[in-house]
Amino acid sequence: MNRIKLGLAALVLAMAGPDSGLAELRSERFEIPVPTPNVRKQLNEPSSRQDNTAGRLGRQNNEEAEAPAEPARVYQSACPALLDELVEAEIMPPVKSGQCGERSPLEVTAAGNVRFSSSATLNCRMAGTVANWLEKTRNLAKSILGRELDALVVSTSYQCRRRNNAPTGKISEHGFANALDITGFRFSDSGMITVEQHWQHLPGDGDSENQPPDNDKKTSGAEGRFLKAVRDVACQHFTTVLGPEANAAHADHFHFDLGCHGKTCRYKICE
Ligand SMILES: [Zn+2]
Repeated sequence: MNRIKLGLAALVLAMAGPDSGLAELRSERFEIPVPTPNVRKQLNEPSSRQDNTAGRLGRQNNEEAEAPAEPARVYQSACPALLDELVEAEIMPPVKSGQCGERSPLEVTAAGNVRFSSSATLNCRMAGTVANWLEKTRNLAKSILGRELDALVVSTSYQCRRRNNAPTGKISEHGFANALDITGFRFSDSGMITVEQHWQHLPGDGDSENQPPDNDKKTSGAEGRFLKAVRDVACQHFTTVLGPEANAAHADHFHFDLGCHGKTCRYKICE
């Protein structure tokens, strides 16, 4: 359309005489680029708008095409656990530190009706998996203890460090917001069960034979059975579950993560 208009204008001016400014118009006409389909797509501009303001927009497009690249946008991912309201969480800006990082971290404050003692920075997969595990854990609290689970006592979530805080070695899954440490469970009656206080080393469990039970920490058994059941259910959901049976570093908490073990990521660690 504009080409036709400009063509007609050029014709009128040409008829008006050699000094009528035709040269200027010609040069202006040839400065007007018509965006190619690729440019149009790249700029995401509707074609009708370009048709209406082709001259002005054409120059703009030319400038934009030649302008330095915009600061890279970070494309974050939506999380099904958040969309489906399995967790209460806010999506946070990406975190990045050396080899550590997560593009779409969530700040999780609750899952189901169970609050977190403090918010946990988790990736989407962990958030959804924690929610699924926690739903079963709530049921275990009812069936084993007859109590209503109120809050999950969490400690470390995202933290850029190596495994077991070693100076060398692999980056911990905590460094990818792919792990959560849990020290205990709080109930609606204000009571609390902690891994440190209530875990029972049973005969035949891991290295328990080398670590005789500390009878001062033992209870009648329901709390210990609850923790054991919680650990076993966790092993169905997470790829790594470490507790007091794993080593001394986990004497007071459970560590859950979704790290990849083995070449096919199908191997699980449950200790
Ligand atoms: Zn941990």
